[in-house]
Amino acid sequence: MIEKSLKELGQSLASKEISAVELATLYLDRIERLNPEINAFVTVDRQKTLAMAAEADARLAAGTAGPLTGIPVAQKDIFCAEGWRTTCGSKMLADFVAPYDATVIDKLHRQAGMVSLGKTNMDEFAMGSSNENSYFGAVKNPWDTSRVPGGSSGGSAAAVAARMAPIATGTDTGGSIRQPAGLCNLTGLKPTYGVVSRYGMIAYASSLDQGGPMGVSAEDCALLLNAMAGFDERDSTSLDRPREDYARDLDLPLAGLKIGLPKEFFGEGCDAKVMAAVQAAIDEYRKLGATTVEISLPNTHLAIPAYYVIAPAEASSNLSRYDGVRYGYRAPEYGNLDDMYMKTRAQGFGEEVKRRILIGAYVLSHGYYDAYYLQAQRIRRLIANDFVEAFKQCDVILGPTSPTTAFRISEKSADPVQMYLSDIYTISLNLAGLPGMSVPCGFADGLPVGLQLIGNYFGEARLLNVAHRYQQVTGWHRQLPAGIA
Ligand code: GLN
Repeated sequence: MIEKSLKELGQSLASKEISAVELATLYLDRIERLNPEINAFVTVDRQKTLAMAAEADARLAAGTAGPLTGIPVAQKDIFCAEGWRTTCGSKMLADFVAPYDATVIDKLHRQAGMVSLGKTNMDEFAMGSSNENSYFGAVKNPWDTSRVPGGSSGGSAAAVAARMAPIATGTDTGGSIRQPAGLCNLTGLKPTYGVVSRYGMIAYASSLDQGGPMGVSAEDCALLLNAMAGFDERDSTSLDRPREDYARDLDLPLAGLKIGLPKEFFGEGCDAKVMAAVQAAIDEYRKLGATTVEISLPNTHLAIPAYYVIAPAEASSNLSRYDGVRYGYRAPEYGNLDDMYMKTRAQGFGEEVKRRILIGAYVLSHGYYDAYYLQAQRIRRLIANDFVEAFKQCDVILGPTSPTTAFRISEKSADPVQMYLSDIYTISLNLAGLPGMSVPCGFADGLPVGLQLIGNYFGEARLLNVAHRYQQVTGWHRQLPAGIA
C-alpha cells in the first residue's frame, strides 16, 4: 500500500479494496512506530484523523468523492487547522489551537475530502534549512538518522520519505519545499507566487511565502496542487486566474525542450558527487529529446544577501503580533506592560527568530533603510530581470537543488552564514516569484541528490511534465531508505 501513487490509492479506495479508515489506520500505525525516532510529526490526533476518514468513506459510498477523497496527507504545522494545535515550530504558539482553517486546509479537508494524519515539525516560523530551529527538537533524515532532513519543511519531508504519509504540504520562502525534498529523495514544487492562498498560513516573509506539495512523484504533486491552488479573495496577493489542471501535460513528449544551464549553478561551491548526479540527469534529458543551452543568471551571488535583508525585514513586522496579549505564549511573571512584552518575546522566541527580528528591525530603521532595505529591493529587481532574459533562451532552467547532500545534525548550526549558504540555488527564484521543483536524481554516498527545475511564471504544468517524463525513465524517486518498508 505504501508504494502506491495517489492515483492508485484513489483506485483502491474507489474499488473498496481498502477503506479510508483502514488506510488512515495503516499510516497512523506507521507514525506510531517510526515517529519516536524521526520526530517528523509534532501533533497526531488519532480520533480526529479517523473521524475525517469515516467522513471520506461516507463520501466514497455516496458517490460524491473526488480524486483525493480518503487519501491521507501530512500538514506542515504552519497551516492553521480548526481545532488542531498549530505551533509553527515555536514555543510562542506551542499551545495555540487554531480557531479557523487556512484556505489550503479548507480546500484539502472539506473540499477534496483528504484525511489529515497530523501536523509536521518545522523550523520555528519557517526560518531555517535543517529543522534544527524547531522548539520541538530536530527531525532526523530517514536516509541517515545522524543527518538533517533539510528545512524548514523538514517534518513534511521526513514524514513522506519514511512513508508515514503518502504526501504532505510544505511552504517555500527561500527553498523550504525544494531543499528538504532534495535531501530526502522527494519531489517538491514551489508554485508561482500567488497561485496558492496564504490565508491562514502563518506569515514569515509575506512577499516570498508560498505553499506547495511535497510528495513521491511529479504526478502526485500535480494532483495535490490541483486541490491546493486557486484564487482566494481572503488573500490580497492571490491571483485571480482561470482554474488549471496541473496534471494535463504530464505525458507530453520532451522533444524540442530547451533546457537552460546557468553557468553560476555549475561553478565551484557544489559538491562533485552532487554535480555528477546532475550531469547524469542532463544526459537523460538529452536522450528524451531535449537540448541544452548555457545561460547566465549574473546576479545569483547577490540573492542570499538580498534575501537576508528582505525576509528578516518582513519577518520583524509579521512577528510583532506575538506580544503576549492576543494569543500564544505570555511570560508567567512580569512587572508592567513593557516588561510583559519583553519577557514574553525573550522567552517565546528561539535564537534564530530573534536574530532575524534584530536584523529586520535594523535594516528598516531610519538611517539604514536606504542603505539596506531599498538596496535589497533593487537587487531583487535585477535578479528577476536575469530570469526574464534567461527565459528568452530556454523553456526551463536546470541545476542542483542544494550544493551538498544532507549534512550532519549540528554540523552547521553554530554558523548561521554556513547554514544560509546551503540555500544558494533555491533563494533567487523566490525573489523573482517563479515556480521551481526539486526532483530526485540519484545518490551520492547513499544520500539523495535533488535536481532543481525552474519554470517561467505559471509554468507549473510544464515543470511537472518535465519532471514526470524523467521519472518515468529513471525511477530514483521510487527508492526507499533502508529499513523503512
Ligand atoms: N532557509 C531559508 C531561511 O532560513 C528559507 C526558509 C523557507 O523557505 N521558509 O529563511
